[in-house]
Amino acid sequence: MTANGARTHCKRGHPFDLFNAGYKQNGWRWCRQCAKEYNSRASKIATSKGLCGRCRKHPSVIGLSVCEGCRQWKANEAHRNLRRYTNWRQNLRLEVLRAYGGKCHCCGESNPLFLTIDHKNGDGSEEMRRNHWHQRGGYPVWALAKRQGYPNRYQVLCWNCNTGRYRNKGICPHVVKAMEASK
Ligand SMILES: [Zn+2]
Ligand SMILES: [Zn+2]
Ligand SMILES: [Zn+2]
Ligand SMILES: [Zn+2]
Repeated sequence: MTANGARTHCKRGHPFDLFNAGYKQNGWRWCRQCAKEYNSRASKIATSKGLCGRCRKHPSVIGLSVCEGCRQWKANEAHRNLRRYTNWRQNLRLEVLRAYGGKCHCCGESNPLFLTIDHKNGDGSEEMRRNHWHQRGGYPVWALAKRQGYPNRYQVLCWNCNTGRYRNKGICPHVVKAMEASK
């Protein structure tokens, strides 16, 4: 037991719970809320003195609130996040494509790079618009399909069949061709 081990709240009344309590190597607890407040206060003081708001040691770049080193760290962080997001997106795509059979429902194209997910009854763009997904690259459709256990209102189509269908009032030119051939 440490000196403050028995207390349930920090000196300033924040709870030492699962989310707010931090632990040091020696078992000493610290309050995340207080640390956050302290940090934002300290970085305000630092920036008012022209110092970096993150490391509070180096002078900040003119026009920014951080120093050159921290600016690069932040840029890399954004880059790392982007890469993580791109990986996540690619995996999600493959997973969803696989779940829906992994090939174009119409022509059988199976190269994942050509494939996309399609609303069987063509209300995809409506769903996109309603949820403002187009602003976020349309990826929630994939996430949603997965979350809902791959409902059968979606199907896999290649871009050819997808646009073909769209331009041909909902029927892929392939299908029209096949219908004509069987006449
Ligand atoms: Zn506190
Ligand atoms: Zn810095
Ligand atoms: Zn196709
Ligand atoms: Zn087709």
